[in-house]
Amino acid sequence: MADKIQIKDGKLIVPDQPIIPFIEGDGIGPDIWAAAQRVIDAAVEHTYHGARKIEWLEVLCGEKSFNKNEEWLPEETLETLRSHYVGIKGPLTTPIGGGIRSLNVALRKELDLYACVRPVRWFRGTPAAILNPQRVDFVLFRENTEDVYAGIEFENGSDEANKIIELMTEFNQSDKIRFPESSSFGIKPISKEGSIRLFDAALNYAIDNNRKSVTIVHKGNIMKFTEGYFKKWTYAHAEEQYGDKVFTWAQYDRIQEEKGIEAANAAQKKAILDGKIIIKDVIADAFLQQILLRPNEYDVIATMNLNGDYLSDSAAAAVGGIGIAPGANINYKSGHAIFEATHGTAPKYAGLDKVNPSSVILSAVMMLSYMGWKEAANSIEYALEKAIFNKKVTYDFHRLMDNATLLKCSEFGDEIISKFS
Ligand code: NAP
Repeated sequence: MADKIQIKDGKLIVPDQPIIPFIEGDGIGPDIWAAAQRVIDAAVEHTYHGARKIEWLEVLCGEKSFNKNEEWLPEETLETLRSHYVGIKGPLTTPIGGGIRSLNVALRKELDLYACVRPVRWFRGTPAAILNPQRVDFVLFRENTEDVYAGIEFENGSDEANKIIELMTEFNQSDKIRFPESSSFGIKPISKEGSIRLFDAALNYAIDNNRKSVTIVHKGNIMKFTEGYFKKWTYAHAEEQYGDKVFTWAQYDRIQEEKGIEAANAAQKKAILDGKIIIKDVIADAFLQQILLRPNEYDVIATMNLNGDYLSDSAAAAVGGIGIAPGANINYKSGHAIFEATHGTAPKYAGLDKVNPSSVILSAVMMLSYMGWKEAANSIEYALEKAIFNKKVTYDFHRLMDNATLLKCSEFGDEIISKFS
């Protein structure tokens, strides 16, 4: 009998027939979701021969919801996502005007989905922007609840903006605001708790998946008390809580200071041989060029909200673009998770059965892995790679490949399904 996923003693309990809420999404959402749902169901059936089956439950959000009930994000949808723990969604239109800045941000906030997880890897045959895309295989953890995404902004000329100018004068900081009269202001909260819970998610992932390093990506050289503290807190936390499992560049620096560079190099080499996870850091702008030039130096990434937004799209572009980039928003403490296509609603392609459904299909792969249904997840990933390798692709890849067969969105889904048998 179909049942809800539950949490017991901090662990996800997944019945054989879990009820999973889905949001179809706006624009191209219905096209990609239709293809994805067929692929997921076929993979589960092929893998478990009827012993497991997903019971899909549609919940409303976005344009579909607004057109029906004049509500962009109904409380009922939130309640269903809360009580079912795991959900999946297509892209959503950003409402213009009104109280909601972005439905995605609202969903993350309401369920406190603090970790945005974006795996970035190359699928054989995918047209890529870099020379050696096979070297790209990392998982990016982006903090999802803080930073300038907190939405605290004050418009130029407003009473609040004028009060900030007064406050800056009081703090002797006013000379740092070049054109005070016309300046708008934004606030960037970065907390110790927020930084550490995100870092824990990244490091635990690295431990569970035998990854070699976690890189803290930051602009702490400029934003010393926000991004700089993100680095400081997470390095200290790694040493205090994970002890022997990790070797940090902060430790390396201390050894170098006390005993010299050779001792520091020897300590790091031993840590690698002992199978410890190396915790290192890099400035965000340097990281952006290094993922193109030396991507194999990166494994698991931990970063803040705005950096993570830029980095994940840029990294995805290096290995095939946002049409194939999956994502998840997870609260590892409560168990709540929403898996999602990372691209937008691409309205000009809506209803044309044209676009690449891989982003939402690969998000489903993440969802199945999260549920512990790894065999079904692997079979989808394998079949999708095979379809691309055989050059049977949607328009976005077709235009970049020689001698490829152009498939519609639904046909690409069929192509994946055909590889299961
Ligand atoms: P977009 O919808 O992501 O589309 C930009 C371009 O990306 C498309 O024109 C297309 O490029 C390519 N693309 C996107 N999805 C694709 C797919 N599945 N297959 C192949 N190519 C794909 O970005 P946008 O036009 O800036 O945003 C439109 C709306 O989506 C806005 O309302 C925005 O707020 C919203 N949005 C939602 C989410 C979300 O729900 N997660 C994320 C971002 C944006 P080509 O035309 O070059 O082929």
